[in-house]
Amino acid sequence: MSAEETYRDRSVLIHGKFRSEKWTFEDHILPPITTAVSFRLRSAERGYEGFCQFANPDFNRDTTPPVYIYDRLDEPCSSLLEQTLAFSEKGDCAVCFSTGMAAISAAIGINVRQGSHIIYHPAIYGCTHGHITNWLTRYGITNDAVNLNDFDTLRAAIRPETKVIYFETPSNPTMELIDIAKVVALVKEINEGREEAERIVTIVDNTFASPYAQRPLTMGIDLVIHSLTKHIGGFGATMGGVVIGPRKVETELLLYRKDFGASLSPDAAWHILTYGIPTLAVRLERQQESAMRVAEFLDLHHKVGRVAYPGLDSFPQRELAQQQMRDIDGDFAPGAMIYFELKGNPQESYQSAMRVVNHLAQNSLSITLAVSLGQIRTLVEHPASMTHAVVPPEHQAKAGIAPGGIRLALGLEDVRDILRDLEHALEQA
Ligand SMILES: *Cc1c(COP(=O)(O)O)cnc(C)c1O
Repeated sequence: MSAEETYRDRSVLIHGKFRSEKWTFEDHILPPITTAVSFRLRSAERGYEGFCQFANPDFNRDTTPPVYIYDRLDEPCSSLLEQTLAFSEKGDCAVCFSTGMAAISAAIGINVRQGSHIIYHPAIYGCTHGHITNWLTRYGITNDAVNLNDFDTLRAAIRPETKVIYFETPSNPTMELIDIAKVVALVKEINEGREEAERIVTIVDNTFASPYAQRPLTMGIDLVIHSLTKHIGGFGATMGGVVIGPRKVETELLLYRKDFGASLSPDAAWHILTYGIPTLAVRLERQQESAMRVAEFLDLHHKVGRVAYPGLDSFPQRELAQQQMRDIDGDFAPGAMIYFELKGNPQESYQSAMRVVNHLAQNSLSITLAVSLGQIRTLVEHPASMTHAVVPPEHQAKAGIAPGGIRLALGLEDVRDILRDLEHALEQA
């Protein structure tokens, strides 16, 4: 039996593969970091072997001793990281990329061609929206933003050429959830009448929950994406992305990465493997505890109109959250992200949110005004003026982004300091 089967997830995430073909650990505790971009090939025959093996489905990447050739193709540190990431999501394989967006473009890219149609949920990461609507449309790939919680509309929006259904749950920034099991069931029903090559592929960006709090592949989703820049990297020091899924997608993902070129650097892979993944569970646990306290505080605050945190009793999709957001021990895991809206009409609440985040930016040690999330520092941002400012106002409204909405990503500071800083800033609302 492999270590993954006899040890608990927490321990495997710290150690990764105990004995890997990808590197000899006889004399090393930590994974390697190599800075040479090409590898010595002892003979032309070995070079031939390496080129034959690369992205070849006849060679299992996890059990075949690798012949490394060139960093853009494959290298030991990101390869080890890929094994651990696949384990974290209970997938067969993982392929890393230089950023989350590179992973997203690959996950979609291997599944579409000219004439394909993509359905995505309107509340979505701004650059993903840009990728689908601004770039893919130039290659004849069409799209529809469809509320995936409205099943009749979703069913009606699916066309013969629909190849991808794409969403985030929780969605960015509103924390709206999508019912994974229901989407999977509908797609399964439609795919039964389709040839293998025409089947719809479901893709979930699991960045907000992290594999600690939710594992969509185990619920029947085809591909999971992470921005490694966030919870998994954990320290805000490196960028990265990953696509995780069944073994059959590995070849195309590796070829896509080779030919589009967005490979993860060994340095970034090493940081994520050495610091990020081993501390994922302990960070998330603590951040989640703080998020619960902060959400409860905001929920009672007279300047706050609405708080969206899956752990609150007032969360509209509380039952669904309980069902699909589960930590690696099976306990309810509402995560470390909060979205809340300040009271007032659109203009007032927009100004109010600006005053609150500006007050935090100038006075708070415990809360930093910055985009991104999943760091050891608590980060705050105002989606309407920042991350989602490029999204047209009508699409913002469709996605449920309010002018007075604020997104909070909990870090590891003492929660009493976070609460006090928030309390002072909300006086400005
Ligand atoms: C940050 C983020 C991305 C993009 O990741 P990068 O590493 O910045 O390219 C995609 N999806 C979500 C939900 C994110 O938060």
